[in-house]
Amino acid sequence: MKLGILGGTFSPVHNGHIRLAQTYRQALGLDQVLLIPTHIPPHKTAPDLPDGEHRCRMAELACEEVQGLAVSDLEQRRPGKSYTVDTLEELHRLYPEAELYLLMGSDMFRTVLTWHRAGDLIRLATVCTMERGTDTPSELETQAERIRQSGGEACVIHAAPLDVSSSGIRAAIAAGERDPGTLGLSPRVLSYILQNSLYGTDETAWRYDEAAFVDLARRLEKPGRFLHSQNVAVRAEELARIWGENPMLCRVAGQLHDLCKNLPPEQQFSWLKRLRGPLRDAIMEDKHIAQVPPIWHGPAAAAYIWEELGVYNRRILYGVAYHTTGRAGMTRFEKIIYLADLTSAERDFPGVEEVRELSERDMDAAMRISLEFTAEKMRKNATPATRDTVEIMEEYGVSL
Ligand code: ATP
Repeated sequence: MKLGILGGTFSPVHNGHIRLAQTYRQALGLDQVLLIPTHIPPHKTAPDLPDGEHRCRMAELACEEVQGLAVSDLEQRRPGKSYTVDTLEELHRLYPEAELYLLMGSDMFRTVLTWHRAGDLIRLATVCTMERGTDTPSELETQAERIRQSGGEACVIHAAPLDVSSSGIRAAIAAGERDPGTLGLSPRVLSYILQNSLYGTDETAWRYDEAAFVDLARRLEKPGRFLHSQNVAVRAEELARIWGENPMLCRVAGQLHDLCKNLPPEQQFSWLKRLRGPLRDAIMEDKHIAQVPPIWHGPAAAAYIWEELGVYNRRILYGVAYHTTGRAGMTRFEKIIYLADLTSAERDFPGVEEVRELSERDMDAAMRISLEFTAEKMRKNATPATRDTVEIMEEYGVSL
């Protein structure tokens, strides 16, 4: 197997990265190119770097549009500085048969022999580059020769540089540019940036088709469930105004939270397995998850709205995913969706008025009393508890 590796901060991923990956994949017949967002970049100071979860998700969105490209979170899982040599050694352990090709722009290629344990690094992978900025073909050939003389392999594909950089994109976005073509990135990556207020943008500027969301809920949910979802949207917006959250995002999360509830359980579970990143890890690592079908629809909806509706806002995704179980350390947004679900207009269980009143005055008291109701119901029905349930009950001092 021939494996390409393209490391970077990817803040954000752009067309220059994708062109580099695609050019090498085609020219050398690489089976796959892995984009590996750095955890802590060794070469750059990055004070306002979005966390790795954001950068990995953006890279995934860009790679999904191109055959043979994928994203690895390998460096996110390794503490400390993300040295490329460590990544190459790890990839050799994971794929002992693979030939590794390390792709980089010419700015990096010029410096590669100064990197941490460069002597080892150039023996682990063929170092590959393309022109970038003002670097000339002859400069790159000279550097390729230096790498070979130091005991490594190097490859240069010459092409006119593509004048795009993450720093340029960040500056253009901050200056108000919103055309993905002009910026040099995928429309879906731009949507991710806007939905998550990255690089000085504001999530309230996110434009989405609310009528299409409502329509989808009407089609997927039974009539009573659809009415509930509409009421939760209204209630979530109300609570957002009280608690200083974004009303628009809370309304969307409320409208979409039960989108998968009327799907057959096996479909819910297969959607749940399509979750990504730390959200997926947190939910799938819980060994009890497969035994509790009633809680699948929340995480399933988080995966569904990402793929089918292009909803990438992290707070909405977590709010939807945890609306039934809750979890330890819930954010204010997540509590709003959880409580809106319990206190929407049509809810009439004994005690609902108290939860309604508390949810507007003392959110944690409202959470505690709701968890007590849940614990009682779970005891009665002998429902197994997942780790999230155990942990949140502990946090609020509720016994199961
Ligand atoms: P910044 O502008 O913040 O320095 P960047 O655009 O260089 O970021 P990185 O994520 O740091 O993006 O780059 C990852 C790798 O991709 C590096 O090896 C870099 O040289 C290469 N690269 C980035 N942009 C291009 C481009 N336009 N053409 C070729 N290679 C590129």
